[in-house]
Amino acid sequence: MKKIVVVGSINMDLVTICERAPRGGETLLGKKFMQIPGGKGANQAVAMGKMKSPVSMLGKIGKEGMGNILLDSMKKDGVDVSNIEYCDEATGIAKIIVEDNGQNRIIVVPGANYEVDNSYIDRHLDTIKNCDILVTQLEIPMETVKYSLKKAKEFGKTTILNPAPANKLDEEIISNSDYIIPNETELEILSGIPVTDEESVINAANILLDKGVKGLIVTLGSKGCMFISKTEKRSFPAYKVKAIDTTAAGDSFIGGFVNGLASGLTFEEAIDRGTKVAAISVTRIGAQTSIPTLEEVLNFKGE
Ligand code: AMP
Repeated sequence: MKKIVVVGSINMDLVTICERAPRGGETLLGKKFMQIPGGKGANQAVAMGKMKSPVSMLGKIGKEGMGNILLDSMKKDGVDVSNIEYCDEATGIAKIIVEDNGQNRIIVVPGANYEVDNSYIDRHLDTIKNCDILVTQLEIPMETVKYSLKKAKEFGKTTILNPAPANKLDEEIISNSDYIIPNETELEILSGIPVTDEESVINAANILLDKGVKGLIVTLGSKGCMFISKTEKRSFPAYKVKAIDTTAAGDSFIGGFVNGLASGLTFEEAIDRGTKVAAISVTRIGAQTSIPTLEEVLNFKGE
């Protein structure tokens, strides 16, 4: 089994369910409050951990209690948390208001996640040296994303970038990523061209392939995903399920896909595993709470 390291964000999602969001100066009673572990980096690491991949998380949390709750929860889900450092900034949070009509309002305060700097990566170079696959996203400073990918490539590792949340990338980040896994919006921003249909997905992906990426997996929500390399273009439909909350669908996909690669599955089988993990996750509420175990994934046949 190959070893994985995830360099990324660790957040607590503070979710409030209410009839409607309050106006300025107004106080309302909400219906329900939940604290759900999240952060794209931690979500992906937890997905891999729940599926029994050896996975180590590189990131930072604050010294207040919330950080420790997240640490314990990741540990319980099979993630090696021994490299996570405490810092003076507060643990990253996402304050999420969900109205009865389904509309979400979200404020993310990165806090400790923005303290994940190059010197922190330098302190944990051995972990990167000892892994086979490095996975990262864009919820930590862009400089750190760039440095982590560069170091991983210097050590001859496979690198996977999930360019979320959407942002432009410099050429070095692109050329040091073996595989990039964007959704449609992220691909549009990365390539600079509108992504509306299959042909435009391929055109946009080709722009990145010309910059040194080996392959892209573009996730397309309920339509599934497309794999595009210089020699291959293939669509993979999503499994039909009753979706109730698509939070962390992309993270579940990536966790499942990388777990598949690390377990020695073929590329196609690994994409199928990612598709299954994501399908199960959209039938459940929350981020890490929605991610299935390996057993659930192996027993899943779709509906
Ligand atoms: P997205 O980040 O929305 O592109 O979704 C990531 C992956 O989650 C997709 O490639 C699908 O495999 C899966 N997915 C998302 N939404 C649904 C849905 N409504 N039903 C089944 N699978 C889904």
